[in-house]
Amino acid sequence: MRKEKLQVGGILYTVKWRKSDIIVDHKLCFGSHSSKDCTIEIDARQPSTRQHETLCHEIAHAIDNVYDLANNEHCISLLGAGLSQVLKPNCFNFVERKPNEPKRRNVPKNTRARSRSQKKLPTA
Ligand SMILES: [Zn+2]
Repeated sequence: MRKEKLQVGGILYTVKWRKSDIIVDHKLCFGSHSSKDCTIEIDARQPSTRQHETLCHEIAHAIDNVYDLANNEHCISLLGAGLSQVLKPNCFNFVERKPNEPKRRNVPKNTRARSRSQKKLPTA
């Protein structure tokens, strides 16, 4: 099930699944977080695994905002990766797999190489 609302601490966030570019500070991103609007945006054109990882990263930004953590992008990236690594194997997946989209473990090597190159695109 694709989440439209997420509660982080006592704050209700709206998750917007966009099928258009997300630009933050003049950079094309997979996702973004706004503490002002309590909004998380995810590029829904990405593979579901990428969307899940990006949502976890943006949730880490929301946690940082709500709990006033270090506001350090490196720490947020680590927290987001940790969330993703804990949630997905335990079947807490926020993103539906697209029809006809192969499971990640079944993706041919040449396809994986393409998705690795996509990792250069930053999250905000
Ligand atoms: Zn970030």
